[in-house]
Amino acid sequence: MAKDNLEKINEIDLCIGTNEKNQIVELVEKYILENDKCDIDDVFKKEEFSDFGTVTYSEKTRAVIKVQDGCDRFCSYCIIPYARGRVRSRKRESVIEEIKCIANNGIKEVVITGIHVASYGKDFKEKYELIDLLEEINKIEGIERIRLGSIEPLMITEDFISRSLKLKKLCHHFHLSLQSGNTETLKRMNRRYSAEEFKIIVDRIRNVYDDAILTTDIIVGFPGETEEEFNETYNFLSEIKFYKMHVFKYSIREGTKAAEMKNQVSPEIKEERSNKLLKLSDENEIEYLNSYLNTEIKVLFEENDGEYWKGHTSNYLIVKVKSEEDLINRIENIKINNVIGLELEGIVTKWKKCKQKVTKT
Ligand code: SF4
Repeated sequence: MAKDNLEKINEIDLCIGTNEKNQIVELVEKYILENDKCDIDDVFKKEEFSDFGTVTYSEKTRAVIKVQDGCDRFCSYCIIPYARGRVRSRKRESVIEEIKCIANNGIKEVVITGIHVASYGKDFKEKYELIDLLEEINKIEGIERIRLGSIEPLMITEDFISRSLKLKKLCHHFHLSLQSGNTETLKRMNRRYSAEEFKIIVDRIRNVYDDAILTTDIIVGFPGETEEEFNETYNFLSEIKFYKMHVFKYSIREGTKAAEMKNQVSPEIKEERSNKLLKLSDENEIEYLNSYLNTEIKVLFEENDGEYWKGHTSNYLIVKVKSEEDLINRIENIKINNVIGLELEGIVTKWKKCKQKVTKT
């Protein structure tokens, strides 16, 4: 309908076919930059966080709350700071009020997200950071799980860890965007940490949460990434052993510093490197899943696909069970007895010993 009425409907700026939907962000960014739809000055003048459309609810069990917009980090490959402007945080009262309302509606899990959620509160006059917000959310009755969206590694300070240990509802799933395991590549990316510093942060998490699941994003074929640099990244990732890695082949974003860099990597090499990392990711995932055999874990059930009830553990593993009872929105103790594909299968059981525990305080 949109395609047929492109001329008649003024509100349509850009029409994308379903075959291009996986490139939607890229296409919209390109359109904005090429058509001057985004006044960069206006974007940078935005000081207030807009609450509009910040919450999505899925299956009445989980709510995604966007608490922050914009980013001041200027990674050399990223268009977001230009397109979304400076950091704007949603007022704590607004977040808390909404989550209380969500809890009253029976939703047990909230996912706290933002464009750069680690920057939450940086624009407030009074000192109030993400950990302060998490502490308040932790007190809300009815909310049983607080999940963090993608987080900036540098956010995991000693202070954050020691305070987060007291948050019983915080899920032990940390999605730390690494992007590269080679310090030189990280410098070109303007990521502001070295591979060694990242390793310290990983150890910091694993030293206190024995069930922590770490996932990450990696860009392969960043401009100038040599074979040696990639191999260093590969070895680093083998050492860290993330549960899962989202691997992206670098693609040019016009208007960014990386777009101007020399030594762009060929598509064939990007493909090869991506395949290598995806293979490593799959191997890690299977190994992790198998380590859960015969353990008991808590699962919040979210959906039914006919044969199975499916849900997630606090550390975001998918678990499915067969049950006569409706398990939706219930947290049950599950004994894992099988790994099917990339999912765990188990049976509902009584609570005995759970892998989700904090070992050191
Ligand atoms: S990659 Fe993330 S941290 Fe870096 S500029 Fe983009 S949004 Fe900000």
